[in-house]
Amino acid sequence: MKKILMIATGGTIASMGGEHGLAPAMTGEELAANVPGIRDKCELTVLQLMNIDSTNMRPRDWLKIRDAVIGHYKEYDGFVILHGTDTMAYTAAALSYLIQDSRKPIVLTGSQKPMGNPYTDAKLNIYQSILYATDDRSCDVSIVFNGKAVAGTRGRKQRTRSFDAFESMNFPLLAVIHDDRIIRHYNGPLPEGDALHTYNTLNDRVFVLKLTPEVKADIFELLSGHYDAIILETFGIGGIPEYEDASFENAIFGWVDAGKTIAVTTQVPEEGCDLEVYKVGKKYSEHPGILKAGDMTTEALVAKIMWILGQTDKAEEIRTLFYKTINHDRSIGS
Ligand code: ASP
Repeated sequence: MKKILMIATGGTIASMGGEHGLAPAMTGEELAANVPGIRDKCELTVLQLMNIDSTNMRPRDWLKIRDAVIGHYKEYDGFVILHGTDTMAYTAAALSYLIQDSRKPIVLTGSQKPMGNPYTDAKLNIYQSILYATDDRSCDVSIVFNGKAVAGTRGRKQRTRSFDAFESMNFPLLAVIHDDRIIRHYNGPLPEGDALHTYNTLNDRVFVLKLTPEVKADIFELLSGHYDAIILETFGIGGIPEYEDASFENAIFGWVDAGKTIAVTTQVPEEGCDLEVYKVGKKYSEHPGILKAGDMTTEALVAKIMWILGQTDKAEEIRTLFYKTINHDRSIGS
């Protein structure tokens, strides 16, 4: 029987109602005890790493989860991480960069309703995560939620209330899970057993800037004292304001010339960014210091740039790492 380590971190799944609202209270052991059948599927060990609302999950916590997986990597065949849904996509992306080419599956799950709610989705999500984590064709970091398996770099929380909380953005689902059956949509090569690469440093000085009409380009200067990288969410396929004073042009090229990192993406959720299409974007497309996000999610961009800047501050190396496809994070040609 396969050995699975379940790492509990909190979230709605563990939450109970109180005077001040829902907050994590149940332990991982209690959660596991509520899910019939999982101990018949695997030899299960539970590790309580923290018990927090994922709103409070920070890069330092991603590293703790990474350490828990890597510290026990040899002892287990797979890992299931119980996590709040609100920032699960960030954590899944971060783990995808911190733990690369893992033959052993690392699955994140949670629920929209607490385990104690009579109509909870927690039981099926845990059950199917265990099922997925014990399957021979599973590998790398993924989210398993509401019968869908999503690559760790492609998840987005798309709905605040429905059980169907997560979508796979700009990339097919890895699999769908119907009761006990895993139907694979992605059947690519599996990493070799010894291919694992791990990292343990992040630079969290990364800011996401969403353009809105009339936003002032001075914001770049205000951010420069606090951040090393900006992820710019442009309009549409890649529109950046061309005001008469050329303020954005000056701010963006000034940011790059100061040796800082910028990645350009879109605020439109689907189909990605292409700076070459419109005049209001094209001038930025040829500059090697401006990183083009293609069809990556903003969550993955945040995690990837934190990971890259944790490894290097050299522009050339930043570029190379940025354009390398990791755990399906960007489509070739995007
Ligand atoms: N606020 C909760 C959390 O992210 C929401 C959830 O888990 O669904 O921890």
